[in-house]
Amino acid sequence: MILLGPPGAGKGTQARMLEEDFGLVQLSTGDLLRAAVAAGTDAGRKAKAVMEAGQLVSDDIVLAILKDRMAQPDVARGIILDGFPRTAAQAAALDALLAEAGQKVTAAVSLEVDDDAMVARVSGRYTCAACGEGYHDEFKQPARAGVCDKCGGTAFKRRADDNAETVRERLTAYHAQTAPLIAHYDSQSVLERVPAMGSIAGIRAMLADIVGRVSA
Ligand SMILES: [Zn+2]
Repeated sequence: MILLGPPGAGKGTQARMLEEDFGLVQLSTGDLLRAAVAAGTDAGRKAKAVMEAGQLVSDDIVLAILKDRMAQPDVARGIILDGFPRTAAQAAALDALLAEAGQKVTAAVSLEVDDDAMVARVSGRYTCAACGEGYHDEFKQPARAGVCDKCGGTAFKRRADDNAETVRERLTAYHAQTAPLIAHYDSQSVLERVPAMGSIAGIRAMLADIVGRVSA
């Protein structure tokens, strides 16, 4: 399974639930690289040299590491790829790699968000400076204005990257980067669009539905 979704769509949470519910294993590119480097495999040594030279690890090396990882028994029930592929070329290379192993992408799940609602959700967040309790301009204000419900603190802080403009930019970049992948998997009829603005439990149920359907 390929999992696609912008920052804030709950990708990490849902991936963990898919692991719990179905015994799938989530593999992110970063984790794969770190593990391969630590294990000192052929591809891991190549990746290490490239990274030490301050360069980006090539698709070939990432695919070689993924191939090694896919051969291990703990991923027999299936994997969730997160952060790879990022381009149509990588998606095509992944298809070829899977085909060699007699496998394929069973589902490419796109967690779909409403951009405007996302901006409102993320950019309204702030926390108590003393105890870290989370608040939101629209959805969760303290009972007494300016006083933390939990500790009575009166100082609050906002993350600099949680402002509306930054969130909007992240979403625009995400859509631009993901459009070719969406098209790639749509053309293979494995694309599953999941509305991701609802409850965590609701999204979990929709994903369970998809896994049940595609693995039947
Ligand atoms: Zn507080």
